[in-house]
Amino acid sequence: MSANVGQRVAATIRDVPDFPVAGVVFKDITPMLGDATVFRDAIEAMAEPFLGTSVTHVLAIESRGFLFASPLALAMTAGLVLARKPGRLPWKTSRVSYDLEYRADSLEVHVDSLSPGDRVLIVDDVLATGGTAAAAVRLVEQLGATPVGVCVLIELSFLGGRARLPDLPVHRVVSY
Ligand code: AMP
Repeated sequence: MSANVGQRVAATIRDVPDFPVAGVVFKDITPMLGDATVFRDAIEAMAEPFLGTSVTHVLAIESRGFLFASPLALAMTAGLVLARKPGRLPWKTSRVSYDLEYRADSLEVHVDSLSPGDRVLIVDDVLATGGTAAAAVRLVEQLGATPVGVCVLIELSFLGGRARLPDLPVHRVVSY
């Protein structure tokens, strides 16, 4: 990763206090998405540690994870798998439920989207408490595939999400 990619990405991320609820500082990535050079460099920086690691599939977490997982899958010549909120996928699904701060949530994947032997990189925009990424790891394992890493644009390190992903490399471009 070139030395200043993280700084240039950070410069395009907007903090929105008290969104969507009081007390949360939302990391708004839309200015970064609108900057062609920074967006391209961010994708390259996300992909770099995993090139040559035989990733067969990129698992995209709904919804902002889709924005990063799609170009990463193309960059790695890997398949793209969608992890979606309940009821959105049309075919038979495998589901995991997990606890967030104030509520429970679930993610689903199509049962035939991964198989034993597949090596899966899990992708989202932000790693916060790690609950969502840890649920994605369980989804991959439920289908008999192997999680090989978690890749996000932004890690909120002060929330300690990595501790919920103890056995996996976690890569981020920007950390707070
Ligand atoms: P967590 O499960 O706590 O790691 O939360 C990660 C998920 O929530 C990701 O899908 C993010 O899109 C979203 N998220 C959590 N905190 C923030 C934040 N401060 N700004 C933007 N998105 C966030």
